[in-house]
Amino acid sequence: MKYKKTIIITGGLGFIGSNYLNKFVSLYPDRLFINLDCITYAAHQENVHVSKEKNYRFEKIDIRNISNLEKIFLKYKPTDIIHFAAESHVDISIQNPALFVETNIIGTHNLLLLAKKYKLDKFYQISTDEVYGSLGVKEPAFTTNSTIAPNSPYSASKASADMLVRSYTNTFGLNAVISRCSNNYGPNQDTTKLIPRFISLLLQKKKVPLYSKGENVRDWIYVEDHVDAINLVFEKGKKGTIHNIGGNQEMTNKKVTETLIKLAGLDESYIEYVPDRMGHDFRYAIDTTEIYRKLGWKPKFSFSEGLKKTFKHFENKLK
Ligand code: NAD
Repeated sequence: MKYKKTIIITGGLGFIGSNYLNKFVSLYPDRLFINLDCITYAAHQENVHVSKEKNYRFEKIDIRNISNLEKIFLKYKPTDIIHFAAESHVDISIQNPALFVETNIIGTHNLLLLAKKYKLDKFYQISTDEVYGSLGVKEPAFTTNSTIAPNSPYSASKASADMLVRSYTNTFGLNAVISRCSNNYGPNQDTTKLIPRFISLLLQKKKVPLYSKGENVRDWIYVEDHVDAINLVFEKGKKGTIHNIGGNQEMTNKKVTETLIKLAGLDESYIEYVPDRMGHDFRYAIDTTEIYRKLGWKPKFSFSEGLKKTFKHFENKLK
C-alpha cells in the first residue's frame, strides 16, 4: 500500500509516545508509523497495543547513533517526525547529566540533521514546561513568551534541544513545531515516576516518600488530553510555532499524594517526608488560552476523573 505519510515516532515504547500510537495508528490507516526506540528502563513493548496493525513498524534504534538512524531514513523514506524520545526523569538527570546531553541534545540534533538532509515535511519536537523554570506562588502561569530559564540538567537539555529546533527553522527553513506540556499522568507511565510509583507503593501498603513538605506545585494533565493536543498541533501547527499544553489543574504534591492515599483506602500515616530534591522547582503552571484561541484545544479530563482511571489501570496491571 502507498501511504500518504510515513511518520517516524521516536520513543514510542515510552509513556506518552505509546499513548499517541495506541490512539492514532488505527485512526490513520493511510499513514505508516515507524516507532524508533532504543528500549531504556522506561520502555515497555506491552505499552503498544497496535503492534499488529499493518501501518505500524518497530525498529530498535538509538537516536544517539546517526549512522543507524540514517539507515532508517533510507529504508522508509519518512515524510515527518514526531520526536518523543528523551531521557525524562529529573532525578536521573541529577545523577547522570551527561546522559541527558547525549540523548536529549545530540540525539535531537541527529534527527534535525537528517530531517534537513532528507527534506522532511514536518519535524515536531515534544517538549516540556520545565524549560521555563520555576514560578513563585502568585506569578502568572507560563505563556510561550515566558523566559526560558531551565534549572535541572533535564530541563536544560530539553531547552537546548528546543533552541536547536528553532535554529533549524530560522537558518535552514525546516518546517518545525514545538509543544511544551505540563506533568502528564495516566496508563503506561513507568513506575519510577511519582504517580505510578506512589500507586505501586500504596498497593503494597508501603509508605510513599514525599519531598520536603510536599508544597511544590505542578499542573497535571491526563495523557489522553496531551496526545489529542499533539495530534492537533501536528495537523495544524504552523512552521516555527510553539504551543503550550496544560491541564489547567494546579496541585501541590501533597494534595496529589492525599488523593492517591484516599483511592487506596489508606490514611496519611502512609506519607514519609524525605529531604528535598536538589534544585527542586517550586511551581509550574501553564496558560492554555493561546492554544485554545489558535487551535481550539482544551483539556477534557478533570484531575479526579483522570486519576481514578490511572489508579484502576495500575491496580489491574500490578496486581
Ligand atoms: P518516557 O521516559 O516514558 O519515554 C521515553 C522513551 O524514549 C522510552 O521509550 C525510551 O526507551 C526512549 N528513548 C530514550 N532514549 C532514547 C534513545 N537514545 N534512542 C531512542 N529512544 C530512546 O518519557 P515520556 O514521559 O513518554 O516523555 C516523552 C516526551 O515528552 C519527552 O520528550 C519528554 O521530555 C516530554 N514530556 C514529558 C512529560 C511528562 O510528564 N512525562 C511532560 C512534558 C513533556
